[in-house]
Amino acid sequence: EKLTSAEAIDLENKYGAHNYHPLPVVLSRGEGVYVWDVEGKKYYDFLSAYSAVNQGHCHPKIVGAMMEQAQTLTLTSRAFYNDKLGVYEEYITKYFGFDKVLPMNTGAEAVETALKICRKWAYEKKGIDENQAQIIVCEGNFHGRTTTIISFSNDENARKNFGPYTAGFIKIPYDDIEALEKAITSSPNIAGFLVEPIQGEAGVYTPAADYLAKAKALCEANNVLFIADEVQTGIARTGSILAVCGNCTCEKACEKQSTYVAPDILILGKALSGGAYPVSAVLANDAIMNVIKPGQHGSTFGGNPIAAAVAIAALEVVNDENLSQNARRLGAIFREKIGAFVANSNIATLVRGKGLLNAIVINDTEESDTAWNICMKLAENGLLAKPTHGNIIRFAPPLVMNEEQLLDCISIIITTLKEFEK
Ligand code: PMP
Repeated sequence: EKLTSAEAIDLENKYGAHNYHPLPVVLSRGEGVYVWDVEGKKYYDFLSAYSAVNQGHCHPKIVGAMMEQAQTLTLTSRAFYNDKLGVYEEYITKYFGFDKVLPMNTGAEAVETALKICRKWAYEKKGIDENQAQIIVCEGNFHGRTTTIISFSNDENARKNFGPYTAGFIKIPYDDIEALEKAITSSPNIAGFLVEPIQGEAGVYTPAADYLAKAKALCEANNVLFIADEVQTGIARTGSILAVCGNCTCEKACEKQSTYVAPDILILGKALSGGAYPVSAVLANDAIMNVIKPGQHGSTFGGNPIAAAVAIAALEVVNDENLSQNARRLGAIFREKIGAFVANSNIATLVRGKGLLNAIVINDTEESDTAWNICMKLAENGLLAKPTHGNIIRFAPPLVMNEEQLLDCISIIITTLKEFEK
């Protein structure tokens, strides 16, 4: 028997750990840019499961690949080879221009993996004394919520009372090249610089246009690994296949583009599977990846045949449907139209972002519940988004959206914001 929304929420509250604070919307179906709640109400999805569903809900090609594989072979573990993994590994390494990939399942796992690879590289290739490696990270970062990752989080709520923390991280301000230069040259023990090309969870902070290129140059000059966390920004979200591709809209990451800032280690997750299945990946060249030897890292599910089949299909969809170009074109329309509204309104001050990863800043404090109340109203009006802070709302629809749908969404957003004008 079908549950009502209230019943489903009661069940979660009663039996589930309270580690989330969801909007009170209970979804039971999705297709493309739309989701439906259990009462049958239809919404535009303007969050895409935190940028995981870039290819749209239940994309037939991705679901088809998943179903076909699910009926053939689901899991071997890495105790044996499977016939899909190598094919996927060749596909993804060529797609992103690296020698090797280490497959994992979630974003946080992939970040942990990258940190381990970086440390091992530092000891074995850079000659840093054991246990002395330092990795530079940025204030406002979000890389997940495992114990090591929260050790360098800025989010007190995510950190407090979960210590003792993992040592070996230096935190510097984001988008501050002088701070990076100072930190990177401060000690011979710097192994890596871990950075989000755009800080999503912090509220969609886009750094200066030359920040990443300058950061990469500093890393190179100091033999420090440039580690790009593209879990949220990757897979066409910001209008190029990776945010580090800069202004290129071709559907491959490549050195040929002058705007490309080549990471030494690239971290992907979320939309690598189109949201259909947990798939993450760490990519690097042989000189770095080959420091990992059998037994030093792994996961029962990492590189399983369903993940491999799903990820190939999900990456193909990005090409088939020109999602980078679409994200770039629609993102410009979104910022222009919402920007024009905001300029003449007292409710919000700013629309910022790149491609279809955008945010508005509401005229209220970070601690206020204004953004939450606006999202509640947006839901009532048929559009689902979620605040990153009390005064910031992120807008990240599936990239398969068309212009007519986007204009409809913009009209819902503006109508809703008007209700909150003072
Ligand atoms: N890195 C970034 C940049 C992210 O945005 C996220 C998730 N929001 C993660 C890592 C963690 O991914 P996951 O939730 O799959 O562990």
